[in-house]
Amino acid sequence: MMTCKDVSTLVSTGGLSDAPLVRRLAVRLHLAMCRHCRAFRRQVEAVARSARAAAAALEVEPLHDFESNIVERLRQ
Ligand SMILES: [Zn+2]
Repeated sequence: MMTCKDVSTLVSTGGLSDAPLVRRLAVRLHLAMCRHCRAFRRQVEAVARSARAAAAALEVEPLHDFESNIVERLRQ
């Protein structure tokens, strides 16, 4: 049986997809039985989604009035 530390390390480092089949199955078994690790995995996935969304937002060109908006907000 894998420990919570083993599972959380694999989940948070993304090393699960490269792990051997037996290890991936052991993680799935652990996740099926451990609500703490399931919650941790959900949190890691939420952080990853947020990071991807933030990265995508940073690649968008700012609006044409971006600078004037900043100046206007500073005057308020
Ligand atoms: Zn656990």
